[in-house]
Amino acid sequence: MSISGLPPYDPGNIFARILRGEIPCKRVHEDEYALAFHDIAPQAPVHVLVIPKGEWVSAADFHAAAPAETIAGFWRAVSAVARELGLEAGGYRILSNMGADGGQEVGHFHVHIFGGRRLGRMVPPG
Ligand code: AMP
Repeated sequence: MSISGLPPYDPGNIFARILRGEIPCKRVHEDEYALAFHDIAPQAPVHVLVIPKGEWVSAADFHAAAPAETIAGFWRAVSAVARELGLEAGGYRILSNMGADGGQEVGHFHVHIFGGRRLGRMVPPG
C-alpha cells in the first residue's frame, strides 16, 4: 500500500515505460526533475502531462515522501512548461487526479496542463 492508500508503485505503468524510453511520447520539456509530453487524448487545444522522474504513485505520495528539492524542482518545471507552451498570457489550468474519486488512471504522479481556450467550469456536473 502506498502512502495515499493506492496500490504500491508499479514500475510497469505506462508513464514509467515512457520515462525509460520503452514507449514514445511527444516530448515538450525535460529537465532533472520532470518530463513533459502531450496527452495522447487531448481534452483542450493544449493538453500536456508533466511527470516527476521518481517512483511516486500520486500527489499524496509525492508530497509526503519526495525530498523538498525534488518537489520544488518539479513544480518549477510545471510552470516552465506552461511558459514554454506560450500559455502564460492567456492563462491555463493545472490539475492532478488523485485516487478513485479523482479519476486517476495512471499510477505515476502527474500534473495535467490545459490551455488554449476558455476552460469553463472547474468541475463538470457529475
Ligand atoms: P489520469 O486520469 O489523471 O490518470 O490521466 C491519465 C492521462 O494519461 C489521460 O489523460 C490519458 O489520455 C493519458 N495517457 C495515457 N496513456 C498515454 C500515453 N501513452 N501518452 C500520453 N498520454 C497518455
